[in-house]
Amino acid sequence: MIKQNLEKIKQQLPSNVQLVVVSKFRPIEQLLEVFETGQREFAENRVQEMVTKYEALPKDIHWHLIGHLQTNKVKYIAPFVKLIHSVDSLELAQEISKQAIKNNRVIPILLQFHVAQEDSKFGLKPEYAETICKQILELPNIEMHGIMGMATFTEDEAFLRKEFKLLRTIFDNLKEIYFKNQESFATLSMGMSSDYKMAVEEGSTLVRLGSLVFE
Ligand SMILES: *Cc1c(COP(=O)(O)O)cnc(C)c1O
Repeated sequence: MIKQNLEKIKQQLPSNVQLVVVSKFRPIEQLLEVFETGQREFAENRVQEMVTKYEALPKDIHWHLIGHLQTNKVKYIAPFVKLIHSVDSLELAQEISKQAIKNNRVIPILLQFHVAQEDSKFGLKPEYAETICKQILELPNIEMHGIMGMATFTEDEAFLRKEFKLLRTIFDNLKEIYFKNQESFATLSMGMSSDYKMAVEEGSTLVRLGSLVFE
């Protein structure tokens, strides 16, 4: 099933959109099945689970952290994480910078913005975008690659599009102000199994798909 699911998804994704397979809660055997198709981008939302899977699986996998990250846990993923999607405070960015220096590397990050109606979702308020971006730019060994966001869980298409458009606007605005000539600021991470087609239509460059791959 997994192989067919992946094939189907890849046929539908434009070539400029990166597929990250969300493997949270899935057993190692299923991740290996995905790996065998050539897929190398995987995402987890918990630090401990990511570390366990990192240790158990081939080292050429690129690990994306997409869940809320506590500052005291950054050190566990700092040596190997490919991209942290969920940076939602200056304090967290400062800790990532500190751990990146310790590991003698640069850690790429995305700023996570809260655009959904649900209270439970983490993320920065859109109006803080410029301020926090400016502050993070001062930090060493951390590289901003773009932004991430989650839309409200709803089937109301107009509503979803509005939230994706807002994310796109934040992205374009930051690009214009701070990253005009910086090719590495190029990731607009939006879209999950239920809404990724619309997210792509609204400008997503990276989709995070879990259930669509494994179910
Ligand atoms: C779980 C999760 C996903 C994947 O959700 P699916 O509906 O299974 O595709 C994407 N992004 C984040 C932040 C998640 O926590």
